[in-house]
Amino acid sequence: MDARFFTAWIEEAARSLRDGRDELTRLDAAIGDADHGSNLDRGFTEAVRALAERRPATPGAVLALVGGTLIRKVGGASGPLYGTAFREAGKALGETPEVSPAGFAAALEAGVAGVRRLGSAAEGDKTMVDALAPAARALAEAVQDGRAAAETRAGAGRDPSETGRGDGGLARALEAAAAAAEAGAEATVPMQARKGRASYLGPRSVGHLDPGAASAALILRALHTVASR
Ligand code: ADP
Ligand code: MG
Ligand code: MG
Repeated sequence: MDARFFTAWIEEAARSLRDGRDELTRLDAAIGDADHGSNLDRGFTEAVRALAERRPATPGAVLALVGGTLIRKVGGASGPLYGTAFREAGKALGETPEVSPAGFAAALEAGVAGVRRLGSAAEGDKTMVDALAPAARALAEAVQDGRAAAETRAGAGRDPSETGRGDGGLARALEAAAAAAEAGAEATVPMQARKGRASYLGPRSVGHLDPGAASAALILRALHTVASR
């Protein structure tokens, strides 16, 4: 995965968030202030524009620019939280021009850790963390499994490059991450919010999908979409 791949991810995420804008805003209207769709549409549109202007050369620089743009352009809670996720993930990637699946799994974990630190939300608090954390775990596991399978096949005398580390392996690992994010988002419906605006509603927050968990699932699904092209 190179800088072009990460740029394509953000472009696909921006498209998906634009398509999902009204639905995200509807979710936020139920338990927040009805701006999540417009917040993220604005932020990712600006991020795409910044990437087109600056054309960062490494994956880490792509994610750093996206993070900084989201922090500057999105007023709500989600701007600094997603901004921190992208920045921390970018930092974890360092200056490498080509990111391995294992490298990306570690970066996603660093991004999620950044969100937890900033927002002090744990899983079960009905936030974006409920989609992001299971996705990071699923990706790490899928990458591990892919490696183990590749080693087994290599041990049996076959070329490991055509197995779990190839592009098919990457798409499968990202499918696992996206599916885990979607399941994690769905699982927020029966939760009572303990962080963010929705927490002001107390028990009345139960029975609604968390908007930030829903947008996190869209962003991770976009990654899989780009990897399976
Ligand atoms: P705001 O609530 O400021 O209007 P948004 O509507 O853009 O911001 O984002 C709301 C989403 O942000 C929530 O659905 C939730 O997923 C996420 N969120 C809010 N507070 C936190 C927090 N402390 N930690 C993690 N995520 C949070
Ligand atoms: Mg809101
Ligand atoms: Mg708001």
